[in-house]
Amino acid sequence: MDRAIVGISASPGIVHGPVHLLRWEVPDVPHHIIPDEEFDTEVARFRAAVERAKERLRAVRERAERHAGPEEAAIFEVQIAILEDHDLLSRVESYIHQNHGAEKAFDLVMLELRQHFGRSPVPMMRERVGDLTDVHIRVLSVLLGLPDHDPVDVPKGSNAILVTHDLTPSLTVQLDREAIAGIATDSGTRTSHVAILARSLGLPAVVGLRTATSRLRGDEYVVLDGSSGILVVNPSAAEIDAFRNRAVAEAETEAELIRAADLDAITTDGVRITIRANVDLPDEAEHAAHSGAEGVGLMRTEFLVVGRAAMPDEEEQFKAYRRVVEAFDGRPVVIRTFDVGGDKLPVGGFPQEPNPFLGWRAIRMCLDQPEMFKVQLRALMRAAQHGDVRIMLPLVVTLDEVREARRLMDEAAGELERRGVPFERAVPLGIMVETPAAVVGADAFVDDVAFFSIGTNDLVQYTLAVDRGNANLASRFTPLHPSVLRLVKRTLEVGAAHDLDVSVCGEMASQPLMAFALIGLGVRTLSVNPRSVPLVKRIVRGLSRSFAAEAAQAALAARTAEEAERQLKYRLLAAFGDAAFLRDTVR
Ligand code: PEP
Ligand code: MG
Repeated sequence: MDRAIVGISASPGIVHGPVHLLRWEVPDVPHHIIPDEEFDTEVARFRAAVERAKERLRAVRERAERHAGPEEAAIFEVQIAILEDHDLLSRVESYIHQNHGAEKAFDLVMLELRQHFGRSPVPMMRERVGDLTDVHIRVLSVLLGLPDHDPVDVPKGSNAILVTHDLTPSLTVQLDREAIAGIATDSGTRTSHVAILARSLGLPAVVGLRTATSRLRGDEYVVLDGSSGILVVNPSAAEIDAFRNRAVAEAETEAELIRAADLDAITTDGVRITIRANVDLPDEAEHAAHSGAEGVGLMRTEFLVVGRAAMPDEEEQFKAYRRVVEAFDGRPVVIRTFDVGGDKLPVGGFPQEPNPFLGWRAIRMCLDQPEMFKVQLRALMRAAQHGDVRIMLPLVVTLDEVREARRLMDEAAGELERRGVPFERAVPLGIMVETPAAVVGADAFVDDVAFFSIGTNDLVQYTLAVDRGNANLASRFTPLHPSVLRLVKRTLEVGAAHDLDVSVCGEMASQPLMAFALIGLGVRTLSVNPRSVPLVKRIVRGLSRSFAAEAAQAALAARTAEEAERQLKYRLLAAFGDAAFLRDTVR
């Protein structure tokens, strides 16, 4: 299969269909000097392009409103308003009068604006960079006569495979599930948020393909195998059949696991492991509640704001949280406060920062915007009236952050009290342990928090200094690196010494080999993506605590991630033989 492009498995499932190539990047603009007598025609050409782009935006807005609702559609309103900005239009025309072609004139103004907004100290201004970029691409595409690509523009029933360089979360939420069957991207890794979102949406996805957009022309037919991470270009009929058979086998294996999903996850020597679900979208709540999960170990809330022109208000947030809490009917629901930033870019983009993962994100951004943060805290305390809610703070590095968050919780409680709104004041507050600082200094937090949850996606990234979303570094993103395992172990020790619950909610927990290592290290609560709940429960039921502990010991003593993996793999194979549910794990 030399027509196979190999990437990273991001969301399981095998689908095939025509390629829909989406190049959502600012195109290169050739320099083109125009003579004075062409000023008028060039200005007219520019104005016509703006009108055409606005027409397209209105059509997209209407479609988004039908598919996703008025809040999601509002972002296009903002983009239309940008194209009506008098100052912007006259700056472009003034460049045209300096003999620049319309494309270059517009390109120059948009670059200036994006830079200016990106550097603004005012968050609202920085938030507009994504919209400016979208408008930049759209108008240039019209001026340069490039095809108008829109992910939402694929006709229903096309069963298309969307192939793109990098899919932003805001584009992902716009996808029409009745038109797009799978996603393939050049960039990204299993832990980048596009992959997380694809899993939540149940869309098969392969990321990290590196060259897919340059190798494909857009008129091909492909098989996308999200389980093994490959894209096969123009497959033969026999190849399609082979993939179809694999898809059937996969579905059978999954159905068998699902039949046992409600059984408890107890090891053969009687140790109970609690398996909870990660919920990324409120729409997933009901499905996750029936996955066999014993609660929610991580509800990510940032996808409430992704692709939106404005932050959701308290009422809307309260309804979203209550929906998840009610779906889980009294089982614990750990809701994480906004972890915005990094590659979770809301509100049409975000500040352009040189190092977004070391930047203004997560708890840092929330504490810097207390009024915005308190809206979320109030909604959470109100939702806590309806079940067992626990609040979790992301990316905590210092104790001050926890104390400041608690002070804001008190303020938020006071505000609800004055309004006479029912709420729960005593909501447990915990932290994500996802930086080496939080692990090494874990004992500093023990008197101030109710629990720890290890976010291995970020912990691996910050420990190994490997960008979690960079496809070129994917082979270096090794959660089984002994340094990472030691940090997990240390967190567990601090938790045990102070009687604090320690769970793991990063992607590691969803993967059989790594879940095996975590259980062996002593983790007793895992939070995994809903689809993996039956699988991880099945793994637990096939192991003894002592066997897993011995395997983890060997992995901890390894000198490299590869050696740790070998130590774990052969033991897992010994325990389960060639069980079909381990196919993508150990082979
Ligand atoms: C993590 O970092 O492991 C985690 C669970 O959070 P996120 O993937 O949303 O950063
Ligand atoms: Mg994280």
